[in-house]
Amino acid sequence: MSYQAWFECINRDCRETYPINRIIYKCRTCGSLLEVRHDLKTLKRKKPETWKRLFEKRYKSNQWPFGSGVWGKKEWVLPQIDDNNIVSMYEGGTNLFWAERFGKLIGIENLWIKLCGNTHSGSFKDLGMTVLVSQVKQMISDGVPIKAVACASTGDTSAALAVYCAAAGIQSIVLLPKGKISVAQLVQPIANGALVLSLDTDFDGCMRVVKEITTDETIYLANSMNSLRVEGQKTVGIEIVQQFDWQCPDVFIIPGGNLGNVAALGKGLKMMQELGMLDKKPRIVVAQAERANPLYRAYLKNFEVFEAIQAQRTLASAIQIGNPVSYEKAVRTLQEFNGVVVDATEQELADAAALGDKTGMFNCPHTGVALAALLKMLKSGAIDKSECVVVISTAHGLKFTDFKIAYHEGRLEFPCKYINNPIEVQPTVDAVKDALYRALQNRRIDV
Ligand SMILES: *Cc1c(COP(=O)(O)O)cnc(C)c1O
Ligand SMILES: [Zn+2]
Repeated sequence: MSYQAWFECINRDCRETYPINRIIYKCRTCGSLLEVRHDLKTLKRKKPETWKRLFEKRYKSNQWPFGSGVWGKKEWVLPQIDDNNIVSMYEGGTNLFWAERFGKLIGIENLWIKLCGNTHSGSFKDLGMTVLVSQVKQMISDGVPIKAVACASTGDTSAALAVYCAAAGIQSIVLLPKGKISVAQLVQPIANGALVLSLDTDFDGCMRVVKEITTDETIYLANSMNSLRVEGQKTVGIEIVQQFDWQCPDVFIIPGGNLGNVAALGKGLKMMQELGMLDKKPRIVVAQAERANPLYRAYLKNFEVFEAIQAQRTLASAIQIGNPVSYEKAVRTLQEFNGVVVDATEQELADAAALGDKTGMFNCPHTGVALAALLKMLKSGAIDKSECVVVISTAHGLKFTDFKIAYHEGRLEFPCKYINNPIEVQPTVDAVKDALYRALQNRRIDV
C-alpha cells in the first residue's frame, strides 16, 4: 500500500498544500506555518490492532530502520522516503520509568517519567532531527543541490543537527551568539564537525541572519518552523501509550519554549485518536519558566490575545523564548486536549529538579520546570492523586551540570532547599569516622 504525506498550510482559510520534497518552511500564499498531513483514509485501511502489532514487532528490534522509535512508525511519519536515505541513530525507545519514591514524597502514586534525554545527542531534539536530515538526504539523492543544513541555536538543536549531519556526511552550519554559550554547549557541534559561526548578537539576532541565509535554497533551514521536525517528535506520545500497553495516561506534563514539542505531542495523540487507537482523551499541561512565559500569559486570557515578551534569563535556558514560533499550533493542541499552562519561578524549578535528583532522577532544569508544575497542580487539586501522570523529561541532566553545581554550591540567587556539599575532612581514619558519625546522625533519608 502506498501511503502519502504532504505539507499543508495551518491557516484554516488557506490550506494551501505543497509536495513533501519541496524546500519550503512557510506558506507561500499567506505566510503561516505548514504542517505535514497524512492520507488518513489509506492509513485507516489497516485496523488499529494491526498497527499495534506492527509497531510492537518493530519496537527496538535490529531490523533497519524500524528499531528506531521514530522509524518504527515510518508510515505515520514520512512514508515516501526511501529506507536507504534514512539517517537514524536508533532514536526514541527511551525509558519510561515509575517515579515511585518521588511520587510518594509528593503524594501521587501513578507518576511516570519519560526520559527523552537518554538518546544520542542527549535531548528529545534527536526525534525531530532524524526526520529532517533524512529528508535532506532524500532530496540530495534526488539531485536537489543542497550544500549544507543550518540552524541558529544555543544548545540542543545545534547538537542534534550536527550529529545527524555528521552521520549522513552532510555539512551542518550552526550560528551561535558570541560569548553567550558555555563550553558544554559548544562542544557537541564542534566535535561533530559543524561549521560553527560565532556572531556578536543574541539568539534572536542569529535567527534573523539564518532566515536570510537560507533564502538561498542550497542552504537548508533546520529551525523548528520547519515542520518536518514535528513529525519525528510526535512519536513521543504514541510511544508512551504503546509502553503502557496502549492505555493512555490521564495527564502529560511537558516543558515548552518555542512550543514545537507540545504541538508534536498533541499531533501524535490526535493521529492515534483519528485512527481509533486512543482509549481516552488525556490532558496536556505545558510548563513554562516564569521568566519566559508568553504562553502562560495568553492562557490566562483564554488565548484571546497573544503578546510576545522579552524573555528574561532563566536557568531553563532551552526554553528562554519570548516569541514562540509554534504558538498557534500549541494553542490548537491545548484546546483539543483540555490544556493547562502552569509557570514556575527559578526557585521552584531548581528545587523541584533537585528534589527529583534526591529520589534517583538526574534532571535538566527544563524537567525541573515540569516537575514544579506537577507539584503546584497537586497542591491546588488541579491534578488528582489518583491520576496517571507522565512527565516528559526533555534532556539529559549531564548537559546541565553548571546548573547543578551552582545549586549545590549555593551560588544561585535564592536559597536552595536541597543543597548537598562535600564535607572537607583530614585524611585520617578517626577524622573520617567522626565526620561520618555526625553526618549520618543528622541525615534523614526522607528529605
Ligand atoms: C528545545 C527544548 C525544549 C523546548 O521545546 P520547544 O519545542 O521549543 O517547546 C525543552 N527542553 C529542552 C531540553 C529542549 O532542548
Ligand atoms: Zn497559507
